[in-house]
Amino acid sequence: MTLIGRMREVAWGAICAHGHWAASMGGAAIGEPAKLVVEHATKRYETRSGLVHALEDYSMRVSDGELVCVLGPSGCGKSTLLWAMAGLHDLTSGQVLLDGEPVTRPHPQIGMVFQEANLLPWRSLLKNIHLPFEIKHLRPQDHSDRITQLLERVGLLGFEHKYPRELSGGMQQRASIVRSLSVDPSLLLMDEPFGALDAFTRDEMNLLLQEIWLETGKTIVFITHNIAEAVFLADRIMVMTPRPGRLANVFTIDLPRPRPLEVTAQPHFFELVAEIKGSIDHGDSRADAVVELV
Ligand code: ADP
Ligand code: MG
Repeated sequence: MTLIGRMREVAWGAICAHGHWAASMGGAAIGEPAKLVVEHATKRYETRSGLVHALEDYSMRVSDGELVCVLGPSGCGKSTLLWAMAGLHDLTSGQVLLDGEPVTRPHPQIGMVFQEANLLPWRSLLKNIHLPFEIKHLRPQDHSDRITQLLERVGLLGFEHKYPRELSGGMQQRASIVRSLSVDPSLLLMDEPFGALDAFTRDEMNLLLQEIWLETGKTIVFITHNIAEAVFLADRIMVMTPRPGRLANVFTIDLPRPRPLEVTAQPHFFELVAEIKGSIDHGDSRADAVVELV
């Protein structure tokens, strides 16, 4: 038997024209509605020193409730892709669809978590969580039950009136997750959210994220350059090439859930990590230097 349930496909040019999706894209079966679709996304930045070709003909679809990791070396265009998914910038060509509708600007159904927690230092934790409501001219009081539940869920109840400087990096990032989820988005986009945390805290956060995902059924796209993190979290891993980022491979990870942290010490887990790493090395040796193994 090959690695359990693992499906590896070379996905270059896997998309048919006119929105029909080839089976080799993975994810929802053909005909199933996709929560999020990226179609032929290409992005070139115009800079003073010339064009930077960040993303080339990248396509993927994400099913409702799926947890997909996008894995690739630093600088390959992952954030560029996620910003387009969030409607934070335009693509040079291609499009992003959420529930079938083009995403052209920030969308109320899309939450985002960045590598830095980006909490405002002069606001308490609770006031930081209230910020998205204020921006949307909503009354946070009307959502206080959900906010309290989320704070409790991530172990921050009792810390609401602390200021960011009084919280550890992991606590700040938990607060930023609460801030994103408090407006109840259906899609959560996470850009290397635990990349700045120490290894122990990162493990805890990955476990917590899995629990929240299992409880809430949110659709999550999680960007990382850490292979082990992607294998632990993902239903599917979309591997990108070095810049300009293209979709190189798709791996389906069917390790049973909930996945305990101990799964990362099992031989099969190492096999999956090694296989994905091998595929990257095989594709382009430059990737080896910049993709973290563990
Ligand atoms: P990753 O998130 O995978 O590290 P990015 O999407 O941030 O990669 O960047 C991809 C490439 O695009 C890099 O070469 C980066 O320097 C470039 N880039 C990103 N944002 C901009 C921008 N606003 N203007 C010009 N170049 C950019
Ligand atoms: Mg990035």
